[in-house]
Amino acid sequence: MAHSETERAIEGFRELIAAAPPASVVFFGGAGVSTESGIPDFRSPDGLYVQKYPYPAETMISRSFFDEHPSEFFDFYCNRMVFTDAEPNQAHRKLAELECEGTIRAVITQNIDGLHQAAGSKAVRELHGSVLRNYCMNCGMSYSADEVLTLHALDDDGIPRCPACAGIVKPDVVLYEEPLDERVLRASIEAIAQAGMLVVAGTSLAVYPAAGLIDYFRGSHLVIINRSPTPRDRQADLCIAANVGDVFDF
Ligand SMILES: [Zn+2]
Repeated sequence: MAHSETERAIEGFRELIAAAPPASVVFFGGAGVSTESGIPDFRSPDGLYVQKYPYPAETMISRSFFDEHPSEFFDFYCNRMVFTDAEPNQAHRKLAELECEGTIRAVITQNIDGLHQAAGSKAVRELHGSVLRNYCMNCGMSYSADEVLTLHALDDDGIPRCPACAGIVKPDVVLYEEPLDERVLRASIEAIAQAGMLVVAGTSLAVYPAAGLIDYFRGSHLVIINRSPTPRDRQADLCIAANVGDVFDF
């Protein structure tokens, strides 16, 4: 029974998408959008936080940890958060297609892997930054993710250092204790406030700022796609307990 219930919900979702006016749909995605590309959710118990590290993931990717323990930070970061071989999955591809057709107004993501852009999406708001952008904290020189991994491997302490000036190369990723980029946040709020349909997918909606952002939605259809229940399910017009990629497989 639960199975056919999910199938009916997916059918309902596709009908809503088909009937959506131009540029009326905003997609808000969390870690669950990338897990099908082989990128684990570091917050989940079976995710990339393993016993090897003596601190919780949230501690290891905080700004104070970065400042005080850069060697351990980059060990965790380079091994558990940067996946340069990952490729877009069905959800990324379909969202890019829907943007090209004019249905999708914006994709707002909590992920830092750049896979929406790799699939062809243009209007992407990266709330937590991107592993693909990295800057020397001293001279500002920019480096790719591959270069950061190489510099990490070359350094005795595993700290990627700028070949030009030996400054530390910091990923353009929003660490815990750091504020979100004001412009990205404003653009995200604006997109959500103007959306007729908001699709929230692959996030438990328990983590800041996801829960707060959806309060700006004033449209008619809130859709939540997540394998487990979220605190906002009661607000949603449609809840789909399925993998994000399966829902976008049409
Ligand atoms: Zn430098």
